[in-house]
Amino acid sequence: MATNERDLAAVAANSAGHLLTLVRAGRARTRGELRELTGLSRSALLQRIDALLAAGYLRTSGVAGSTGGRPSTVLEFNDRRQLVLAADLGATHARLAVVDLAGRPLVEHVGELDIADGPEAVLRRLTADLSALVDHAGARLEELCGIGLGVPGPVEFSTGRVVQPPIMPGWHDYPIREHLEAELGRPVLVDNDANLMALGEHATLGLDDTPLILVKVATGIGAGIVIDGRVYRGVDGGAGDIGHVRIAGNDVRCTCGSVGCLAAVASGRAIARRLDGLGFPTRSSRDVVSRLHAGEPDAIRLAREAGQHVGEVLATVVCLINPAVLIIAGDLAETAFVTGVREALYARALPRATRHLRVATSELGQRGGVVGAVRMVVDELYSPAEVDRRLASVSG
Ligand SMILES: [Zn+2]
Repeated sequence: MATNERDLAAVAANSAGHLLTLVRAGRARTRGELRELTGLSRSALLQRIDALLAAGYLRTSGVAGSTGGRPSTVLEFNDRRQLVLAADLGATHARLAVVDLAGRPLVEHVGELDIADGPEAVLRRLTADLSALVDHAGARLEELCGIGLGVPGPVEFSTGRVVQPPIMPGWHDYPIREHLEAELGRPVLVDNDANLMALGEHATLGLDDTPLILVKVATGIGAGIVIDGRVYRGVDGGAGDIGHVRIAGNDVRCTCGSVGCLAAVASGRAIARRLDGLGFPTRSSRDVVSRLHAGEPDAIRLAREAGQHVGEVLATVVCLINPAVLIIAGDLAETAFVTGVREALYARALPRATRHLRVATSELGQRGGVVGAVRMVVDELYSPAEVDRRLASVSG
């Protein structure tokens, strides 16, 4: 029996759920490797592995090449055990997907959606679209371990509600999670879209403990921070909400009600408004991208200036967090905008803070939010504590 706190922690750390995490993270793939990593007795280890195999968390897959001893059975995380439903809501579009636990899509759908229609209308439509997509995948709702939802605003993760979102009118404090759980009958996790994109890129790049920051620039501007493999959300979900930092010398009115915000000066919507004002009809962030692709000089100049404003703010962010990777994502990520970001960032940040910094555009592009939503759901619902709880409830 465990006799003190440290013993208790050690027991918990070598629980069945912990062993599953070691296999899922690629740290061990045979019983022998797990024994070496954990120091568990042979009988304790075998009993836990058997429980994980019986409940379908692990599966066996061939034998590992032997280095002298007997060949040993390879253990794998069973990524077909359940499915995940992922939805990434932007200001004007939604991307929905049914995927397996490894993130492989069964079906994916992109459609128009106006977040400004408010929570009742948007969630009614989302529920119908998600149910249809599950049908289309030939699956049933009961096969889902959970639903991951990204939204373009600050989220209080523990409650699944958005908090004073500048570009989501009518959504403040709306119980998104409760609403969808009641409609779909499965666990729902909600997070900010930039957080999910950061998590998706981090997982795809295989960065483990390497710190990463992702800045999404589309209709609005937001950032996600991944430290030690987890999203850093701050005390109430506001971490990374850099879009409403005030830029000196600007008095442009922002959608949040304040003036001179970074988003009011440097977002896709802000560039669209300025192009429109110059006599080039431009309604959205995506229209700006079309003009950039067409090589229009005013669009390129304004995008580069906007990038410089974002780069100025990022210089502070980079000095504070000292990340290894900074990803620029969103509609404007492959344009003169990124040039502007680099110019201001390297001019303003301490050389020490940027010495090992890699500034890159997104690997996942428009799929980043969905990939991150899946990762969030699997990380949470296949966490050691959650797996141990479910194993205990089956046997007990
Ligand atoms: Zn603002």
